[in-house]
Amino acid sequence: RLEDLWDRLEALEGKPYPFYKDLKGVWRGKGFALRFVYVQGDPFATPSVLEAIYPGEALQALRVYTREEGRVAVEDFLLRALKARLRDLPRLAGSGHSGAVRVEVESPKVLRRAGAHLGEKALSLRFRVGLPAQGRRILGREARRLFQALSRHLEAFLQELDREALLRHVRQAEDFAFIQERLAERGLVAFVGEGSLLPRESGVSQRPLKGAVPFQSPPSLKVAFRTPHAGEVWGMGLPQGLTLITGGGFHGKTTLLEALVHGVFPHVPGDGREWVVTDPLAQRVQSEDGRSVKGVDLRPFVHDLPLGQDTAFFSTEDASGSTSLAAAILEALEMGARVLLLDEDTSATNLLVRDARMQALVRRETLTPILDRVQDFKALGVSLVLVVGGVGDYLDLADTVVLMEAYRPQEVTAEAKAIARAHPTGRAFGEPRYPLRAVPRAPLPASFDPRRGRKEKVKGRGLRELVYGEETVDLSALDLFENAQVRALGALFKRLGRLADGRTPLKALVERALLGVEDLFVLEEAPELAWVRPLELAAAANRLRGLEVVQV
Ligand code: ADP
Ligand code: MG
Repeated sequence: RLEDLWDRLEALEGKPYPFYKDLKGVWRGKGFALRFVYVQGDPFATPSVLEAIYPGEALQALRVYTREEGRVAVEDFLLRALKARLRDLPRLAGSGHSGAVRVEVESPKVLRRAGAHLGEKALSLRFRVGLPAQGRRILGREARRLFQALSRHLEAFLQELDREALLRHVRQAEDFAFIQERLAERGLVAFVGEGSLLPRESGVSQRPLKGAVPFQSPPSLKVAFRTPHAGEVWGMGLPQGLTLITGGGFHGKTTLLEALVHGVFPHVPGDGREWVVTDPLAQRVQSEDGRSVKGVDLRPFVHDLPLGQDTAFFSTEDASGSTSLAAAILEALEMGARVLLLDEDTSATNLLVRDARMQALVRRETLTPILDRVQDFKALGVSLVLVVGGVGDYLDLADTVVLMEAYRPQEVTAEAKAIARAHPTGRAFGEPRYPLRAVPRAPLPASFDPRRGRKEKVKGRGLRELVYGEETVDLSALDLFENAQVRALGALFKRLGRLADGRTPLKALVERALLGVEDLFVLEEAPELAWVRPLELAAAANRLRGLEVVQV
């Protein structure tokens, strides 16, 4: 019982730190139980993991969802509420992380998180507490004080939830899911609600930019969704096919594209991007000098190299701007991506276009630019959203052209077509030699062995790096929004290692690995894990230098 915990903590006063290990197990309080899941070895180590468990009867008030995405939103809400609530626990003196209380939620994305699980029988919330000590001596009385305060909060937590805010959170996520699953059947790749606030305060801030110009759809692209909670919601519907986002520098092109990248996940109310909804199979692809590529059939874009090097099974430790972009596109197709998002700023020009003059000058071209593949993408049912400011050759082929002017989008498809007719590029649209298709690859199990002879170490560093055994995987080209996602990648890599057999294609492996993600979250104990999409898990695996594949 929880009262016994007070005595136990008191009795630990002055004892060596490892005595804290004796607390492992469940302590029953009023309306909840407190479990010591993991106990740290010293006050400087990563703090201990605690779990508050609420039994079924208390959870009726939380069953406000009508679909799985709503349940996840409840979990997400509860973690945020707990974080806010525990923010002002009394500060403790002591060494290292003594008294630190951490609830992990890093971004305004509504995500499945290891820190919260709302099941049929119980709700569990996990967080970290730095068990207090002075040097290596336990501060038992401080610990008692801390845990008593913590318990008071946990006891009142569910009763004192802001019900209105919970409902808003859940309804937003459910409306998001409702729109998201209807985009494709409406012929759209994305929806941007009227009044959305797209720009962020700064490159490192997640808050909306103050004084931002609210989004206003061009009349010709306006569509509505009749959502279950908010009713009719209006906004810009971006059609499938090839969409160009164009305009002068600093007029908001990249900001719009970024918003679409983020729009694969729901956002919390107040974020400004709540009504930005992107096809769940959309992926941003970009050039990435120096990345590793393993066994990709690059021929749809890179072929017939001068020394007869084969690009049908292409590997490199140091890809160029164009090969890395070609690889990213083919890897995305291999994973079943339906929408590719590209920005001219981050795409190798020679893979975007070869204009008439260069066509005339360079005969033995080894690159087929994306421009010559637009029809093939359409035939595959893959849409492209391309930010272009400088490359006009795409105008002939675009289905939709959006011009950004002072952060206001206008649809200028007809003008663009007229200009394309009035100023022909004179360029020949070649018939590419190789069909546009991605050859599935099966990873060998050794690819995901973090030991590789030496000690196992798996650690996420910020959003950009995953330390996986001896290797540091560069994730900077991936769209990850929380360190918890990076850590999840590490845990999922290990699972991929167990599933890989040298025959199963990466796509199937990744989907299988993510199928049991809830169990994985429970197993891993750490609360700092969050959902990643199959597309990002595969993209991360593709950047692992230890990856070995065979084409299947
Ligand atoms: P582009 O890609 O067209 O050069 P960006 O999207 O990078 O332009 O935007 C340029 C600047 O304008 C950025 O600093 C961005 O924060 C700001 N910005 C973008 N959209 C808006 C908006 N709706 N209201 C106010 N400022 C915005
Ligand atoms: Mg830009």
